[in-house]
Amino acid sequence: MIQLSPRCRRLVCVKCSAEYPPDGTLMTCTRCGLTGILDVEYDLSNLPPADSFLRVLQGRAPNMWRYAEMLPVVPDLPEHFLRVGLSPLYESERMAQDLGVGRFYVKDDTLSPTASSKDRASAVAVVMARKANQQVVACASTGNAASSLAGMAAFAGLGAVIMVPARAPAPKVAQLRMYGAKVLRIEADYSTTWDLCQQTIERHGWYNRNCAINPFLMEGKKTTGLEIGEQLARQPIDWVAVSVGDGCTIAGIAKGLRQMVEIGMLPSMPRMLGAQAEGAAPVYRAWRGEPLPTAAETFADSIAVSVPRNLTKAVNAVKGSNGALVTVSDDQIRHDMRVLPRLSGVFVEPAAAATVAGVREAVRQGIIKPADKVVAVMTGNGLKDIASATAVAGEAPYVKANLDAIESALSEEP
Ligand SMILES: *Cc1c(COP(=O)(O)O)cnc(C)c1O
Repeated sequence: MIQLSPRCRRLVCVKCSAEYPPDGTLMTCTRCGLTGILDVEYDLSNLPPADSFLRVLQGRAPNMWRYAEMLPVVPDLPEHFLRVGLSPLYESERMAQDLGVGRFYVKDDTLSPTASSKDRASAVAVVMARKANQQVVACASTGNAASSLAGMAAFAGLGAVIMVPARAPAPKVAQLRMYGAKVLRIEADYSTTWDLCQQTIERHGWYNRNCAINPFLMEGKKTTGLEIGEQLARQPIDWVAVSVGDGCTIAGIAKGLRQMVEIGMLPSMPRMLGAQAEGAAPVYRAWRGEPLPTAAETFADSIAVSVPRNLTKAVNAVKGSNGALVTVSDDQIRHDMRVLPRLSGVFVEPAAAATVAGVREAVRQGIIKPADKVVAVMTGNGLKDIASATAVAGEAPYVKANLDAIESALSEEP
């Protein structure tokens, strides 16, 4: 048994509503098996009123552990932890204008220690693994959860075993190896990789960092929503947008926002906008009640997911917030890979550009209205996938080392 924070009341299965005591060693529902994903419930009724809680928060260290009251665990020395969380929230007027929305904010998780939002979940994973006296943490990943876990495990002094599909971009694999993780590139897609990893974890008894299995990891992802609630405290937000693969991120952010509404920090629940790639849109299909696809075709590797492991929570997050899902083509994603850095200074990987493309698509469809205030969560850094960035940006010219050649190169397009 791992002791959870006293405010954690119980764990509830999202499928059959079975209830369990708040034990940090529990993973999925014992009745439903792997699809019986658990949700951690809290009692937040005795928190200070929103205004004083906001002042308390503002006095705390700038990391995700500032929300200790709303997390299942915190590290013994949070101030010594790698700096995960409290990423900046930038308002971009130029992006708002280009997208045709009232106000546009970039929640910049590209600055996280391993350069993706996944650090928020991996941070909780290594803290839980230490509490469980586990030496090895393992996961399957499209790439970012892997490099994130590898970094957090390196920090915490734990071993990391990671399985990625063979297509994972080289920079992510290099990052993994630099952190000293054991990395297996499985010659299969993400879905098969995930199944094999799950079986290997069960066989070896490692600590499981798969987000849809381990209910405590979404509590880490939730901190993005808590932060948006703190950073825009008391202000109404119309939409919070993020791209969707397994669905853990959108579900986590929605939960964080909802808790901020519950404690009075936000006046109302923002609507969640999920963006999926046209060729990998099972959550979108499920939300519309259509049959699920079996393949995942998109160059946005982080959301190339054919079997979303957190389908129920993701669809619930969208429906429960009166939100929406849209799909975007790879060309739409390429367009916003180019636009966002040029208009906001934030350089993102394809899966994060898909979020911006999703906002643009939602505006085009009239889902997002011209006066709406939109927060877009930028989940992964552009340096994570240099091949795609180079393909979009084009190569820079080589120029002979003299001033005449420089002048003539300067006069060329673009
Ligand atoms: C993982 C990831 C997502 C999607 O998160 P899910 O929890 O799989 O839905 C989006 N963008 C990036 C960069 C990611 O790494």
